[in-house]
Amino acid sequence: MRIKPDYLVVGSGLFGSVVAQNLASQGKQVLVVEKRYHIGGNCFSELDAETGIEYHKYGTHIFHTSNETVWNYIQKFTQFNDYHHQVLTLHKNKIYQLPINLETINSFYNINLKPYEVENFLKKELSKENYINPKNLEEQAISLIGRPLYEAFIKNYTSKQWGKGPTELPASIIRRLPIRYNYSETYFNHARWQGIPLHGFTSLFEKLLSSPNIEVKTNCDYFDLDENLKKLPTIYTGPIDRFFNFKLGHLEWRSIRLEKHVMNYSDFQGTSVINYADNDVTYTRVHEPLHLHPERNYQNKKTTVFYEYSESDQNSPYYPVRDEDNLKILAKYEERAKEQENVIFGGRLGTYAYYDMDLTILKALELVNYIHS
Ligand code: FAD
Ligand code: UDP
Repeated sequence: MRIKPDYLVVGSGLFGSVVAQNLASQGKQVLVVEKRYHIGGNCFSELDAETGIEYHKYGTHIFHTSNETVWNYIQKFTQFNDYHHQVLTLHKNKIYQLPINLETINSFYNINLKPYEVENFLKKELSKENYINPKNLEEQAISLIGRPLYEAFIKNYTSKQWGKGPTELPASIIRRLPIRYNYSETYFNHARWQGIPLHGFTSLFEKLLSSPNIEVKTNCDYFDLDENLKKLPTIYTGPIDRFFNFKLGHLEWRSIRLEKHVMNYSDFQGTSVINYADNDVTYTRVHEPLHLHPERNYQNKKTTVFYEYSESDQNSPYYPVRDEDNLKILAKYEERAKEQENVIFGGRLGTYAYYDMDLTILKALELVNYIHS
Protein backbone atom coordinates (compact mmCIF):
# COMPACT_ATOMS: atom_id res chain seq x y z
CA MET A 1 0.00 0.00 0.00
CA ARG A 2 1.26 3.47 -0.93
CA ILE A 3 -0.12 5.23 2.18
CA LYS A 4 -0.19 4.48 5.89
CA PRO A 5 -3.91 4.96 6.53
CA ASP A 6 -5.33 6.86 9.50
CA TYR A 7 -8.89 6.18 8.32
CA LEU A 8 -10.76 3.58 6.34
CA VAL A 9 -13.69 4.69 4.18
CA VAL A 10 -15.93 1.90 2.91
CA GLY A 11 -17.58 2.91 -0.38
CA SER A 12 -16.52 5.52 -2.94
CA GLY A 13 -20.02 6.95 -3.46
CA LEU A 14 -20.73 10.60 -2.79
CA PHE A 15 -20.77 10.25 0.99
CA GLY A 16 -17.51 8.30 1.20
CA SER A 17 -15.76 10.49 -1.35
CA VAL A 18 -16.69 13.78 0.36
CA VAL A 19 -15.57 12.40 3.73
CA ALA A 20 -12.29 11.11 2.26
CA GLN A 21 -11.62 14.42 0.50
CA ASN A 22 -12.12 16.39 3.70
CA LEU A 23 -10.04 14.09 5.88
CA ALA A 24 -7.24 14.12 3.30
CA SER A 25 -7.31 17.92 3.12
CA GLN A 26 -6.67 17.92 6.90
CA GLY A 27 -3.52 15.87 6.33
CA LYS A 28 -5.02 12.48 7.20
CA GLN A 29 -4.18 9.42 5.10
CA VAL A 30 -7.33 7.70 3.90
CA LEU A 31 -7.84 4.26 2.42
CA VAL A 32 -11.06 4.02 0.38
CA VAL A 33 -12.29 0.52 -0.45
CA GLU A 34 -14.95 0.06 -3.09
CA LYS A 35 -16.45 -3.28 -4.00
CA ARG A 36 -17.52 -2.25 -7.52
CA TYR A 37 -15.01 -1.91 -10.36
CA HIS A 38 -15.40 1.88 -10.36
CA ILE A 39 -15.65 4.91 -8.09
CA GLY A 40 -18.69 7.20 -7.73
CA GLY A 41 -21.33 4.85 -6.31
CA ASN A 42 -24.74 5.28 -7.92
CA CYS A 43 -23.71 8.60 -9.50
CA PHE A 44 -21.17 6.88 -11.78
CA SER A 45 -21.22 7.96 -15.43
CA GLU A 46 -19.37 6.69 -18.50
CA LEU A 47 -19.37 7.04 -22.28
CA ASP A 48 -21.47 4.57 -24.20
CA ALA A 49 -19.07 2.77 -26.54
CA GLU A 50 -21.58 2.65 -29.39
CA THR A 51 -22.70 6.29 -29.47
CA GLY A 52 -20.11 8.20 -27.39
CA ILE A 53 -22.98 9.61 -25.31
CA GLU A 54 -22.28 9.93 -21.58
CA TYR A 55 -24.85 8.08 -19.49
CA HIS A 56 -25.49 7.40 -15.81
CA LYS A 57 -25.11 3.69 -15.24
CA TYR A 58 -27.47 3.53 -12.24
CA GLY A 59 -30.18 5.92 -13.45
CA THR A 60 -30.34 9.59 -14.44
CA HIS A 61 -28.80 11.88 -11.81
CA ILE A 62 -29.37 15.62 -11.74
CA PHE A 63 -27.54 17.64 -9.17
CA HIS A 64 -29.80 20.22 -7.52
CA THR A 65 -29.60 22.22 -4.33
CA SER A 66 -30.64 25.36 -2.54
CA ASN A 67 -28.04 24.92 0.14
CA GLU A 68 -25.25 27.45 -0.13
CA THR A 69 -22.73 25.39 1.88
CA VAL A 70 -23.23 22.42 -0.44
CA TRP A 71 -23.09 24.58 -3.57
CA ASN A 72 -19.90 26.37 -2.49
CA TYR A 73 -18.30 23.05 -1.62
CA ILE A 74 -19.10 21.10 -4.78
CA GLN A 75 -18.12 23.90 -7.13
CA LYS A 76 -14.52 23.49 -6.00
CA PHE A 77 -14.49 20.17 -7.83
CA THR A 78 -16.58 20.72 -10.94
CA GLN A 79 -18.39 23.23 -13.07
CA PHE A 80 -21.99 22.44 -13.96
CA ASN A 81 -23.75 22.83 -17.29
CA ASP A 82 -27.06 24.70 -17.38
CA TYR A 83 -29.29 21.66 -17.86
CA HIS A 84 -32.69 22.16 -16.20
CA HIS A 85 -34.64 19.05 -15.34
CA GLN A 86 -38.11 18.65 -16.75
CA VAL A 87 -40.14 15.43 -16.65
CA LEU A 88 -43.10 14.35 -18.74
CA THR A 89 -45.47 11.47 -18.11
CA LEU A 90 -47.48 9.36 -20.50
CA HIS A 91 -51.04 8.49 -19.48
CA LYS A 92 -53.52 6.87 -21.89
CA ASN A 93 -51.28 7.70 -24.82
CA LYS A 94 -51.16 11.42 -23.97
CA ILE A 95 -48.17 13.36 -22.67
CA TYR A 96 -48.57 15.51 -19.52
CA GLN A 97 -46.19 17.65 -17.53
CA LEU A 98 -44.85 16.47 -14.19
CA PRO A 99 -44.82 17.41 -11.32
CA ILE A 100 -48.54 18.06 -11.61
CA ASN A 101 -48.87 21.73 -12.56
CA LEU A 102 -51.52 23.96 -14.09
CA GLU A 103 -50.84 22.55 -17.55
CA THR A 104 -51.32 18.97 -16.26
CA ILE A 105 -54.57 19.87 -14.50
CA ASN A 106 -56.03 21.87 -17.40
CA SER A 107 -55.06 19.27 -19.93
CA PHE A 108 -56.32 16.36 -17.81
CA TYR A 109 -59.72 17.94 -17.09
CA ASN A 110 -59.85 19.70 -20.47
CA ILE A 111 -60.48 23.09 -18.86
CA ASN A 112 -58.69 26.42 -18.66
CA LEU A 113 -58.20 27.34 -15.01
CA LYS A 114 -56.18 30.38 -13.93
CA PRO A 115 -53.67 29.94 -11.07
CA TYR A 116 -56.02 31.62 -8.57
CA GLU A 117 -58.84 29.21 -9.48
CA VAL A 118 -56.98 25.95 -8.87
CA GLU A 119 -57.38 25.83 -5.11
CA ASN A 120 -61.16 26.14 -5.28
CA PHE A 121 -61.32 23.65 -8.12
CA LEU A 122 -59.34 21.07 -6.15
CA LYS A 123 -61.37 21.83 -3.01
CA LYS A 124 -64.48 20.58 -4.82
CA GLU A 125 -62.62 17.40 -5.68
CA LEU A 126 -61.29 17.06 -2.13
CA SER A 127 -64.74 17.54 -0.62
CA LYS A 128 -65.60 14.15 -2.13
CA GLU A 129 -62.70 12.42 -0.36
CA ASN A 130 -60.10 13.84 1.99
CA TYR A 131 -57.98 12.63 4.91
CA ILE A 132 -57.02 14.93 7.79
CA ASN A 133 -54.24 12.63 8.98
CA PRO A 134 -53.18 10.64 5.93
CA LYS A 135 -51.92 7.24 7.05
CA ASN A 136 -50.33 6.16 3.80
CA LEU A 137 -49.21 7.31 0.35
CA GLU A 138 -52.66 6.87 -1.21
CA GLU A 139 -54.45 8.93 1.44
CA GLN A 140 -51.74 11.58 1.28
CA ALA A 141 -51.91 11.88 -2.51
CA ILE A 142 -55.72 12.00 -2.61
CA SER A 143 -55.70 14.72 0.07
CA LEU A 144 -53.35 16.80 -2.07
CA ILE A 145 -54.77 16.36 -5.58
CA GLY A 146 -58.02 14.37 -5.39
CA ARG A 147 -58.71 10.85 -6.61
CA PRO A 148 -58.85 11.34 -10.43
CA LEU A 149 -55.36 12.89 -10.71
CA TYR A 150 -54.05 10.38 -8.17
CA GLU A 151 -55.41 7.44 -10.15
CA ALA A 152 -54.04 8.80 -13.43
CA PHE A 153 -50.51 9.81 -12.44
CA ILE A 154 -49.61 8.34 -9.05
CA LYS A 155 -51.38 5.07 -8.30
CA ASN A 156 -50.01 2.79 -11.02
CA TYR A 157 -46.60 4.44 -11.31
CA THR A 158 -46.11 4.08 -7.56
CA SER A 159 -47.23 0.42 -7.59
CA LYS A 160 -44.76 -0.33 -10.37
CA GLN A 161 -41.95 1.64 -8.70
CA TRP A 162 -42.33 0.10 -5.25
CA GLY A 163 -43.82 -3.31 -6.05
CA LYS A 164 -46.60 -2.70 -3.52
CA GLY A 165 -49.83 -0.77 -3.38
CA PRO A 166 -49.82 2.93 -2.31
CA THR A 167 -51.87 2.02 0.80
CA GLU A 168 -48.89 -0.04 1.99
CA LEU A 169 -46.39 2.79 1.53
CA PRO A 170 -45.50 5.73 3.80
CA ALA A 171 -47.06 9.12 3.01
CA SER A 172 -43.61 10.73 3.07
CA ILE A 173 -42.65 9.30 -0.36
CA ILE A 174 -45.21 11.40 -2.19
CA ARG A 175 -44.34 14.58 -0.32
CA ARG A 176 -41.17 14.62 -2.44
CA LEU A 177 -43.28 15.52 -5.45
CA PRO A 178 -44.42 19.17 -5.60
CA ILE A 179 -47.81 20.30 -6.96
CA ARG A 180 -47.94 23.64 -8.75
CA TYR A 181 -50.74 26.04 -9.47
CA ASN A 182 -48.73 27.69 -12.27
CA TYR A 183 -47.12 26.57 -15.54
CA SER A 184 -43.62 26.14 -14.13
CA GLU A 185 -42.34 22.84 -15.47
CA THR A 186 -39.04 22.58 -13.65
CA TYR A 187 -38.94 19.27 -11.78
CA PHE A 188 -37.35 20.37 -8.51
CA ASN A 189 -38.98 22.86 -6.19
CA HIS A 190 -36.77 25.61 -4.76
CA ALA A 191 -33.65 24.34 -6.55
CA ARG A 192 -31.55 27.48 -6.67
CA TRP A 193 -28.82 25.64 -8.53
CA GLN A 194 -29.04 22.59 -10.75
CA GLY A 195 -27.13 20.92 -13.57
CA ILE A 196 -24.88 18.07 -14.61
CA PRO A 197 -21.11 18.20 -14.03
CA LEU A 198 -19.67 19.61 -17.24
CA HIS A 199 -17.25 16.70 -17.65
CA GLY A 200 -19.61 14.08 -16.18
CA PHE A 201 -20.10 12.72 -12.67
CA THR A 202 -17.12 10.38 -12.77
CA SER A 203 -14.71 13.25 -13.37
CA LEU A 204 -16.15 14.94 -10.25
CA PHE A 205 -15.30 11.84 -8.21
CA GLU A 206 -11.81 11.66 -9.71
CA LYS A 207 -11.23 15.19 -8.44
CA LEU A 208 -12.71 14.47 -5.00
CA LEU A 209 -10.40 11.49 -4.60
CA SER A 210 -7.30 12.99 -6.24
CA SER A 211 -5.31 13.85 -3.09
CA PRO A 212 -2.01 11.95 -2.63
CA ASN A 213 -3.30 11.32 0.90
CA ILE A 214 -6.03 9.10 -0.52
CA GLU A 215 -5.61 5.57 -1.85
CA VAL A 216 -8.57 3.95 -3.56
CA LYS A 217 -8.93 0.20 -3.97
CA THR A 218 -11.74 -0.83 -6.32
CA ASN A 219 -13.00 -4.43 -6.60
CA CYS A 220 -12.34 -4.59 -2.87
CA ASP A 221 -15.09 -5.69 -0.50
CA TYR A 222 -14.78 -4.49 3.10
CA PHE A 223 -15.84 -7.92 4.35
CA ASP A 224 -12.83 -9.52 2.66
CA LEU A 225 -10.31 -7.11 4.21
CA ASP A 226 -7.50 -8.06 6.48
CA GLU A 227 -8.63 -7.85 10.14
CA ASN A 228 -5.89 -5.29 10.89
CA LEU A 229 -7.34 -2.82 8.38
CA LYS A 230 -10.78 -3.28 9.93
CA LYS A 231 -9.34 -1.97 13.21
CA LEU A 232 -8.83 1.48 11.63
CA PRO A 233 -11.33 4.24 12.44
CA THR A 234 -13.92 3.48 9.77
CA ILE A 235 -16.63 5.33 7.91
CA TYR A 236 -18.92 2.66 6.51
CA THR A 237 -21.33 3.56 3.69
CA GLY A 238 -22.50 0.06 2.71
CA PRO A 239 -25.92 -1.32 3.77
CA ILE A 240 -26.22 -1.21 7.57
CA ASP A 241 -27.96 -4.60 7.80
CA ARG A 242 -25.13 -6.28 5.85
CA PHE A 243 -22.57 -4.88 8.31
CA PHE A 244 -24.24 -6.85 11.10
CA ASN A 245 -24.62 -9.90 8.87
CA PHE A 246 -28.43 -9.44 8.83
CA LYS A 247 -28.59 -10.73 12.41
CA LEU A 248 -31.52 -8.47 13.32
CA GLY A 249 -33.38 -9.01 10.05
CA HIS A 250 -33.17 -7.93 6.42
CA LEU A 251 -34.01 -4.35 5.55
CA GLU A 252 -36.09 -4.11 2.40
CA TRP A 253 -34.64 -2.25 -0.59
CA ARG A 254 -36.14 -1.45 -3.93
CA SER A 255 -33.89 -1.73 -6.93
CA ILE A 256 -34.01 -0.88 -10.62
CA ARG A 257 -32.86 -2.55 -13.82
CA LEU A 258 -31.93 -0.45 -16.83
CA GLU A 259 -32.29 -2.05 -20.23
CA LYS A 260 -30.13 -0.38 -22.89
CA HIS A 261 -31.22 0.14 -26.49
CA VAL A 262 -29.39 2.03 -29.21
CA MET A 263 -31.92 3.71 -31.50
CA ASN A 264 -31.21 4.78 -35.06
CA TYR A 265 -32.47 8.32 -34.51
CA SER A 266 -30.59 11.50 -33.67
CA ASP A 267 -33.27 12.12 -31.00
CA PHE A 268 -35.65 9.41 -29.76
CA GLN A 269 -37.98 11.10 -27.25
CA GLY A 270 -37.05 14.79 -27.21
CA THR A 271 -36.25 14.96 -23.50
CA SER A 272 -34.12 13.19 -20.88
CA VAL A 273 -36.85 11.37 -18.91
CA ILE A 274 -40.42 10.29 -19.67
CA ASN A 275 -42.43 8.51 -16.98
CA TYR A 276 -45.01 5.87 -17.82
CA ALA A 277 -48.03 6.24 -15.57
CA ASP A 278 -50.12 3.28 -16.71
CA ASN A 279 -50.04 -0.40 -15.82
CA ASP A 280 -50.11 -1.77 -19.36
CA VAL A 281 -46.47 -0.63 -19.76
CA THR A 282 -44.24 -2.56 -17.39
CA TYR A 283 -41.34 -0.09 -17.30
CA THR A 284 -41.54 3.05 -15.16
CA ARG A 285 -39.34 5.50 -17.07
CA VAL A 286 -37.40 5.89 -20.28
CA HIS A 287 -34.11 7.78 -20.11
CA GLU A 288 -32.32 9.42 -23.03
CA PRO A 289 -28.97 10.73 -21.71
CA LEU A 290 -28.26 12.69 -24.89
CA HIS A 291 -30.40 15.51 -23.46
CA LEU A 292 -28.41 15.84 -20.24
CA HIS A 293 -25.57 17.60 -22.04
CA PRO A 294 -27.09 20.10 -24.50
CA GLU A 295 -23.77 21.98 -24.50
CA ARG A 296 -22.02 18.98 -26.11
CA ASN A 297 -24.19 19.31 -29.18
CA TYR A 298 -23.91 15.61 -30.03
CA GLN A 299 -24.26 15.17 -33.80
CA ASN A 300 -25.07 11.46 -33.84
CA LYS A 301 -27.37 9.48 -36.06
CA LYS A 302 -27.86 7.14 -33.08
CA THR A 303 -28.99 7.70 -29.50
CA THR A 304 -28.69 5.58 -26.37
CA VAL A 305 -31.93 4.94 -24.49
CA PHE A 306 -32.58 3.12 -21.19
CA TYR A 307 -35.85 1.49 -20.16
CA GLU A 308 -36.15 1.44 -16.37
CA TYR A 309 -37.80 -1.49 -14.61
CA SER A 310 -38.31 -1.55 -10.85
CA GLU A 311 -37.30 -4.72 -9.11
CA SER A 312 -36.85 -6.25 -5.73
CA ASP A 313 -33.17 -7.18 -5.83
CA GLN A 314 -31.72 -7.18 -2.33
CA ASN A 315 -28.18 -7.53 -3.76
CA SER A 316 -28.52 -4.21 -5.50
CA PRO A 317 -29.96 -1.80 -2.92
CA TYR A 318 -31.16 1.57 -4.31
CA TYR A 319 -34.24 2.84 -2.50
CA PRO A 320 -34.93 2.16 1.19
CA VAL A 321 -38.55 1.11 1.81
CA ARG A 322 -39.05 3.17 4.93
CA ASP A 323 -42.34 1.69 6.11
CA GLU A 324 -43.16 0.85 9.73
CA ASP A 325 -41.81 -2.71 9.70
CA ASN A 326 -38.49 -1.67 8.16
CA LEU A 327 -38.09 1.31 10.47
CA LYS A 328 -38.48 -1.05 13.45
CA ILE A 329 -35.65 -3.21 12.13
CA LEU A 330 -33.58 -0.10 11.41
CA ALA A 331 -34.02 1.15 15.00
CA LYS A 332 -32.49 -2.11 16.28
CA TYR A 333 -29.51 -1.75 13.95
CA GLU A 334 -29.07 1.87 15.00
CA GLU A 335 -28.75 0.71 18.61
CA ARG A 336 -26.08 -1.79 17.58
CA ALA A 337 -24.31 0.85 15.48
CA LYS A 338 -23.93 3.09 18.54
CA GLU A 339 -21.99 0.30 20.26
CA GLN A 340 -19.38 0.21 17.46
CA GLU A 341 -16.57 2.34 18.84
CA ASN A 342 -14.51 2.42 15.68
CA VAL A 343 -17.19 2.61 13.00
CA ILE A 344 -19.42 5.48 11.89
CA PHE A 345 -22.31 4.69 9.54
CA GLY A 346 -23.15 7.16 6.80
CA GLY A 347 -24.75 7.70 3.40
CA ARG A 348 -27.88 6.39 1.80
CA LEU A 349 -27.15 2.72 2.50
CA GLY A 350 -25.42 3.12 5.86
CA THR A 351 -28.33 5.07 7.35
CA TYR A 352 -31.17 3.60 5.21
CA ALA A 353 -32.11 7.10 4.10
CA TYR A 354 -33.66 8.47 0.90
CA TYR A 355 -31.09 11.27 0.44
CA ASP A 356 -30.61 13.28 -2.71
CA MET A 357 -27.05 14.20 -3.57
CA ASP A 358 -27.11 17.58 -1.87
CA LEU A 359 -28.28 16.14 1.43
CA THR A 360 -25.70 13.37 1.11
CA ILE A 361 -22.96 16.03 0.80
CA LEU A 362 -24.35 18.03 3.70
CA LYS A 363 -24.45 14.96 5.96
CA ALA A 364 -20.87 14.06 4.96
CA LEU A 365 -19.66 17.59 5.76
CA GLU A 366 -21.45 17.44 9.14
CA LEU A 367 -19.74 14.14 9.90
CA VAL A 368 -16.31 15.54 9.10
CA ASN A 369 -16.95 18.55 11.36
CA TYR A 370 -17.93 16.11 14.10
CA ILE A 371 -14.76 14.05 13.59
CA HIS A 372 -12.61 17.20 13.77
CA SER A 373 -14.39 18.57 16.85
P1 FAD B 1 -23.89 5.11 -2.96
O1 FAD B 1 -23.80 5.95 -4.18
O2 FAD B 1 -24.82 3.93 -3.01
O3 FAD B 1 -22.42 4.61 -2.61
C1 FAD B 1 -22.14 3.57 -1.70
C2 FAD B 1 -20.92 2.82 -2.22
O4 FAD B 1 -20.50 1.86 -1.24
C3 FAD B 1 -21.20 2.05 -3.50
O5 FAD B 1 -20.26 2.41 -4.49
C4 FAD B 1 -21.05 0.60 -3.07
O6 FAD B 1 -20.55 -0.23 -4.11
C5 FAD B 1 -20.07 0.72 -1.92
N1 FAD B 1 -20.11 -0.43 -1.00
C6 FAD B 1 -21.22 -0.98 -0.44
N2 FAD B 1 -20.86 -2.02 0.34
C7 FAD B 1 -19.51 -2.14 0.24
C8 FAD B 1 -18.57 -3.04 0.81
N3 FAD B 1 -18.94 -4.06 1.60
N4 FAD B 1 -17.25 -2.88 0.52
C9 FAD B 1 -16.84 -1.87 -0.31
N5 FAD B 1 -17.71 -0.98 -0.87
C10 FAD B 1 -19.02 -1.13 -0.59
N6 FAD B 1 -29.98 12.37 -6.14
C11 FAD B 1 -30.08 13.60 -6.67
O7 FAD B 1 -29.72 14.59 -6.02
N7 FAD B 1 -30.58 13.81 -7.95
C12 FAD B 1 -30.98 12.77 -8.74
O8 FAD B 1 -31.42 12.98 -9.86
C13 FAD B 1 -30.90 11.45 -8.20
N8 FAD B 1 -31.32 10.38 -8.93
C14 FAD B 1 -31.23 9.14 -8.37
C15 FAD B 1 -31.68 8.05 -9.15
C16 FAD B 1 -31.61 6.77 -8.63
C17 FAD B 1 -32.08 5.61 -9.46
C18 FAD B 1 -31.10 6.57 -7.31
C19 FAD B 1 -31.03 5.18 -6.73
C20 FAD B 1 -30.67 7.63 -6.55
C21 FAD B 1 -30.73 8.92 -7.07
N9 FAD B 1 -30.26 10.02 -6.35
C22 FAD B 1 -30.37 11.29 -6.87
C23 FAD B 1 -29.64 9.85 -5.01
C24 FAD B 1 -28.10 9.69 -5.09
O9 FAD B 1 -27.78 8.55 -5.84
C25 FAD B 1 -27.57 9.56 -3.66
O10 FAD B 1 -27.84 10.72 -2.91
C26 FAD B 1 -26.05 9.31 -3.58
O11 FAD B 1 -25.57 8.49 -4.60
C27 FAD B 1 -25.74 8.71 -2.23
O12 FAD B 1 -24.35 8.46 -2.12
P2 FAD B 1 -23.83 7.36 -1.09
O13 FAD B 1 -22.36 7.47 -1.08
O14 FAD B 1 -24.56 7.50 0.19
O15 FAD B 1 -24.33 5.95 -1.68
N1 UDP C 1 -44.36 9.36 -8.48
C1 UDP C 1 -45.52 9.01 -9.14
N2 UDP C 1 -45.63 9.27 -10.48
C2 UDP C 1 -44.62 9.82 -11.19
C3 UDP C 1 -43.43 10.20 -10.50
C4 UDP C 1 -43.32 9.93 -9.15
O1 UDP C 1 -46.44 8.46 -8.55
O2 UDP C 1 -44.77 10.00 -12.41
C5 UDP C 1 -44.25 9.05 -7.04
C6 UDP C 1 -43.61 7.66 -6.82
O3 UDP C 1 -44.23 7.07 -5.69
C7 UDP C 1 -42.16 8.01 -6.55
C8 UDP C 1 -42.31 9.33 -5.75
O4 UDP C 1 -43.42 9.99 -6.40
O5 UDP C 1 -41.52 7.01 -5.80
C9 UDP C 1 -41.07 10.22 -5.77
O6 UDP C 1 -40.74 10.52 -7.11
P1 UDP C 1 -39.28 10.97 -7.55
O7 UDP C 1 -39.32 11.30 -9.00
O8 UDP C 1 -38.80 11.99 -6.60
O9 UDP C 1 -38.48 9.62 -7.34
P2 UDP C 1 -36.97 9.24 -7.66
O10 UDP C 1 -36.42 10.24 -8.64
O11 UDP C 1 -36.25 9.26 -6.34
O12 UDP C 1 -37.06 7.89 -8.26
